[in-house]
Amino acid sequence: PGERLYLGMDFGTSGARYALIDKQGTIHSEGKREYPFYMSGETIDWVQSWKTTIFSLLEDVPVHFRPLVASISIDGTSATTIIVDSNTGEPLWRPFLYNESCPDALPMVKSIAPVNHTVCSGSSTLCKLVSWWNTEDSKKESALLLHQADWLLWLLHGKLGVSDYNNALKVGYDPEVDSYPPWLLAQPYSHLLPSVTAPGTSIGCLKENIRTQFGFSEDCVVCTGTTDSIAAFLAARATQPGKAVTSLGSTLAIKLLSTRRIEDARFGVYSHRLDDKWLVGGASNTGGAVLRELFTDEQLDKLSEQINPMEASPLDYYPLTAAGERFPVADPNLAPRKSTKDRAQCLLHPRPESDVEYLHGILESIARIEAKAYSLLKDMGATEVEEVFTAGGGAKNDKWIKIRERVLGLPVSRAMQTEAAYGAALLALKGAQQSLN
Ligand code: ADP
Repeated sequence: PGERLYLGMDFGTSGARYALIDKQGTIHSEGKREYPFYMSGETIDWVQSWKTTIFSLLEDVPVHFRPLVASISIDGTSATTIIVDSNTGEPLWRPFLYNESCPDALPMVKSIAPVNHTVCSGSSTLCKLVSWWNTEDSKKESALLLHQADWLLWLLHGKLGVSDYNNALKVGYDPEVDSYPPWLLAQPYSHLLPSVTAPGTSIGCLKENIRTQFGFSEDCVVCTGTTDSIAAFLAARATQPGKAVTSLGSTLAIKLLSTRRIEDARFGVYSHRLDDKWLVGGASNTGGAVLRELFTDEQLDKLSEQINPMEASPLDYYPLTAAGERFPVADPNLAPRKSTKDRAQCLLHPRPESDVEYLHGILESIARIEAKAYSLLKDMGATEVEEVFTAGGGAKNDKWIKIRERVLGLPVSRAMQTEAAYGAALLALKGAQQSLN
């Protein structure tokens, strides 16, 4: 018999991936599937699509590895909500997607929740639940709410009504006291809320028919998951307070592991629980989208090569593709400092003759915004950042890493792993280790 392996699956916005790791974190196999396209009347049948995809991924796991898999976990998009029949698990309604808004439910949610609570956003899971509750009149008594990851995991273990405290945050679960708050439990729909455990907790064995069909082992367990962005953070293995991950994608997002929980609705800053620590997050509208408006990825590579990262750029921009910022500056009208005359040629003012200097100025400006973001979290009471790992399209730019090291005054590096599926595999590993103890 070979070494035991741990399987993570990520159900992201554009497709699904899997990663199979050993207990040292070495990847033995990984793969990706696009979501197949099904229609149900006029709408896309996402449930069918996800269901097909999870079994496709299991099939993609090489046959000789399957008997070695000790545990499985899954992450899904945050606030993607499925209302199912609590007896059969079958969806009673099409799923509400992560970015879908239910403004009709917002007044009612705001009337019951504390001011500025995470649920007070039209796309929160609670707004989706209330919207469903108000429009549907049948099956209310035997309904159950699951998040995307919960439902996919249920397909594997068959125990209905289990979630984790990361997915459950946006339905109103309070991870600090480890329960749903009284104002939520007092609602007529509170019986729909799933029970909640820590991410990476063993729920039960893989269903027998799946195990025998695919050739997994008898002791393979299925563990609670998390959301896709938390799984991506876990992938970087920033496990000590003060370690952080900056994601340089279209936008700039930072996540810092802290011993204290930080919430500030003005800046859109909130915390997820990770065992005995808090994952504090904030997202800025600056980021790679501005670069993409100005340069091709190839130009970015070429121009970056010529930048001297040890030299400070005198240019000071606030790179945005549209007016408005939330974090680390809360100003819905913040101007990107762009010309209205010729947007394509002169996005940020002043534009120097040299494109190398221009790019240097933009990269350095984004680095200053990043530094301001971490210092704001510190001012709010979070653990002070001491090391930054980097994910996203901008992470491959070594000159930018050097610029950021100088501006942040901290060690900055590319994260070794950034795939959410890898983070989900680490949760599977955690669950398997706990079920041994
Ligand atoms: P998202 O998933 O948020 O759309 P990605 O993580 O795929 O974004 O990153 C894409 C971004 O990375 C683009 O906005 C692009 O401008 C930026 N990018 C690509 N190559 C480089 C580079 N060499 N230096 C800096 N940024 C880059």
